[in-house]
Amino acid sequence: MSIANDLRSIKGAIPEDVTLIAVSKTRSIEEIKEAYDAGQRDMGENRVQELCSKVEQLPKDIRWHLIGHLQSNKVKYIAPFVHLIHSIESFKLLKEVDKRARENKRVIKVLLQFHIAQEESKFGFSLEEVLDLIHPIKELKNIEVNGVMGMATFTDNEHQIKSEFRSLKRIYFDLKDHFGDQFNTISMGMSGDYELAIVEGSTMIRVGSKIFGSRNY
Ligand SMILES: *Cc1c(COP(=O)(O)O)cnc(C)c1O
Repeated sequence: MSIANDLRSIKGAIPEDVTLIAVSKTRSIEEIKEAYDAGQRDMGENRVQELCSKVEQLPKDIRWHLIGHLQSNKVKYIAPFVHLIHSIESFKLLKEVDKRARENKRVIKVLLQFHIAQEESKFGFSLEEVLDLIHPIKELKNIEVNGVMGMATFTDNEHQIKSEFRSLKRIYFDLKDHFGDQFNTISMGMSGDYELAIVEGSTMIRVGSKIFGSRNY
């Protein structure tokens, strides 16, 4: 088993139009380089400090995705380079991203994270909240809302996982008309459930342990 082989077998098994993000949180520079050398360019991290230290040590053409809970006071550190923020869960955070993007003279792509799991601990918007915010969100000129992100409940119950993914897809279609053409991304599916997620319409999967092996926190 190797990182390159695991990447190849996942890539070979998913449709070409589904983007694979290699979730590199907790992994060493050497491990990430192995994925890079195998052609992987989209990497996902969930901690700002870890992300910033890795960026400096790795090739500049990596597209860095921030996938974990993001505090407003940390946005400034990733604003110069982040490719896509998946975990926008409040209007306050969105305004901060817009402000920092403007300071860096760029437009930052974001996804709106929705609470689709039954578990209490998962962060995210509800559809109603976002529908009420469409207008103010569209006033923010330095962000581009590219779609939605969600995490299913951690369970063996495939029926439940599927219905949660379906609810995210429904939210995506309820919002699509409001946001326009660049709103084209559904980020859902991890190592344990990305196959189900793709069946349910995912366009972007976030896979860590299936590529790099199990994590020791
Ligand atoms: C860690 C993480 C993943 C990847 O998890 P694996 O089970 O290792 O594939 C995906 N999405 C988010 C938000 C994560 O924090």
